[in-house]
Amino acid sequence: MTHDPSSRGSRSRLLQWLGIGPGEDNDESHSHGSATPPPAITAREIWLPAKRRLLGKVADFLIDHDLEVMPWTLEVAYDCVTGAKPKLAQMILERTEAGKLVTLQWLENVLRQEEGDTSDQILAALMSRLEESLEDFSKTTNSARDATSAYGAALQQHVDDLEQVSRAGIVITELAALAKAMIHRTREIEHDLNESEERTKALQKNLDEARRIADEDHLTGLPNRRAFELLLDRETAAARAAGDELNVAFCDIDHFKRINDSHGHAAGDRVLKTVADTLSRISDSRCHVARHGGEEFAVLFRGMSLQKAWERLELAREEIAERRLINRATDMPFGRVTFSGGIADVFAYAARSDALRAADEALYAAKQAGRNQIFIAGETPPPLQDAA
Ligand code: GH3
Ligand code: MG
Ligand code: MG
Repeated sequence: MTHDPSSRGSRSRLLQWLGIGPGEDNDESHSHGSATPPPAITAREIWLPAKRRLLGKVADFLIDHDLEVMPWTLEVAYDCVTGAKPKLAQMILERTEAGKLVTLQWLENVLRQEEGDTSDQILAALMSRLEESLEDFSKTTNSARDATSAYGAALQQHVDDLEQVSRAGIVITELAALAKAMIHRTREIEHDLNESEERTKALQKNLDEARRIADEDHLTGLPNRRAFELLLDRETAAARAAGDELNVAFCDIDHFKRINDSHGHAAGDRVLKTVADTLSRISDSRCHVARHGGEEFAVLFRGMSLQKAWERLELAREEIAERRLINRATDMPFGRVTFSGGIADVFAYAARSDALRAADEALYAAKQAGRNQIFIAGETPPPLQDAA
């Protein structure tokens, strides 16, 4: 049998490229003296190393970023190394280059925001377009109905006049019959247009309901982050115009991960709902509570001083901290469930984003100082703070 050196060389190069074969040198020595041509490369020989390389890259990603191996972190790693989510991969790269850690929490926030943003934005755009179409349709239906109605009335008048002409000839009689038929048809159209209007109103009601659902957090029933941001826009403008005070607070459940880890996600959801219900009880027309994301809530206080707002939030903090919650699925106590908070005066800062950041920093300071307390932005230690 003849030895085909070119085929041996290309196989060697391919295996080397795939990362499974020996290099050219080794290949030489391996095949030296052999008279038989190398066997054909199997699909398995191609795919196996490719899979190994991919798994290696996924593993490297998790190890490099010091991330735990969990189904969702594996998914993130896979999406990044395969390029399935280039935006996410880019954000991770930028964060790494900035010398910051890619933590589980950061990743969770990024993913949650991505999901929330896209679905909320698509829904909001769809609803706005539908609203515009409905408005146009409604206007057209109304003017058509009015025109039909006026036309019908005018026609009726002509028919009445015609019938009063005693010596009306056959042509006029026929014309009158024709006009009567037209009146009948006009009334039908008018009726259809009335029905259309009713259906438009029903559709508008459904749309309002859809908007309400889109603004609501499904788990807690509180306004979601999107709704909170709209509310913040509205309240900032209204408070500024009326000369009212406006304070914003962020609250975050303490060690919530432990609750999930020890009792499971479903039990964690119930705790979240309990905290949401407790916060809801302090809300009224001057105090709006929203779920800002994850185990974090935002509260907006209008027309009350920073101190009064702090006191009101304290009521909720104390109430939840005093309760002894039990996991009703297992009868096991949850232990003490608490939250920390940070509050800031919106108008004490040049930009509203600065006030939000200040509230967030105060929350962080409250966490650092031992949790289960609410800090006021710019006051360290806060003079109003209760013993934790
Ligand atoms: P800290 O006191 O510093 O806030 O600690 P933490 O454990 O509360 O904070 P961390 O950010 O480490 O964990 C928050 C956890 O909240 C992780 C995430 O899985 C969980 N979480 C976020 N949203 C939900 C949800 O809707 N339901 C449940 N059950 N858990 C959630
Ligand atoms: Mg927390
Ligand atoms: Mg949090």
